[in-house]
Amino acid sequence: NLSIDFTGETRVITVSNQKGGVGKTTTAVNLAAALASLGARVLVIDLDPQGNASTALGVPHNADVPSVYDVLIDQEPLADVVQTSPESPNLLCAPSTIHLAGAEIELVSQVAREHRLRSALEQYLATADAQVDFVIIDCPPSLGLLTINAFTAAHELLIPIQCEYYALEGLSQLLGNVSMIQKHLNSTLRLSTILLTMYDGRTRLAQQVADEVRQHFPNEVLGTVIPRSVRVSEAPSFGQTVIAYDGQSAGAVAYREAAVEIARRAEGSATERHEEGDA
Ligand code: ADP
Ligand code: MG
Repeated sequence: NLSIDFTGETRVITVSNQKGGVGKTTTAVNLAAALASLGARVLVIDLDPQGNASTALGVPHNADVPSVYDVLIDQEPLADVVQTSPESPNLLCAPSTIHLAGAEIELVSQVAREHRLRSALEQYLATADAQVDFVIIDCPPSLGLLTINAFTAAHELLIPIQCEYYALEGLSQLLGNVSMIQKHLNSTLRLSTILLTMYDGRTRLAQQVADEVRQHFPNEVLGTVIPRSVRVSEAPSFGQTVIAYDGQSAGAVAYREAAVEIARRAEGSATERHEEGDA
């Protein structure tokens, strides 16, 4: 019943929001693991110097591990830094190391500084041993050159929104930056998905925020919301995603449902376009 066809083009999704602590990393790794559990092959690119996504995927990322830093600054092939998560042979990770903290500054003086990730990814996808169905990029909480590299490399933007007061604050700045990227660097980038995270249905505030976000973005917000769940926050300390840590927990179930929605949405929108074309 969950049979999903992953044979289309690679979808490159950047998980971004300049606010910290809204669930970017949690969403990037758990969505990736959920997609992998559905049979997709998924590469997570950890663009945050904190390296939390690498940790959650159980991938070593101490200072001497080859990382996204080497790809962006020394133009090493992405294939040379990609590791396989112990969780699944379908789950890959290009780790971040502490060196990435300096990349934001070092990139400023480099040629084609906004395109470094995109070029590396294009080369990787053209030569990868096996087809990658999804690339999911975990961004740092800023709108600097690392995030610009993600926006330039991606087709789709996924914004996690925490169901709390001030949830929509900063969103217009983020979307303004996206328009600038569309104009100057990447015309194919589109806001495809908004995911409501850390939802606590017992509070009126969470419901109000969810309603408000749905009013503003009726087509982008997923039907699935991610509940606030202790299992989700515990998993990274075991070097695991919640899918592996406790696959039956509410958080794992929600991330799998979100993954199915995201996978199906692309099929749906392709069908819609087709039907419009026929009419
Ligand atoms: P960001 O990457 O946007 O900074 P994180 O994904 O690191 O945000 O999440 C911030 C904190 O919230 C982390 O401690 C994480 O474990 C916790 N968290 C994220 N999602 C959930 C959830 N659904 N339930 C409980 N805790 C969560
Ligand atoms: Mg993060």
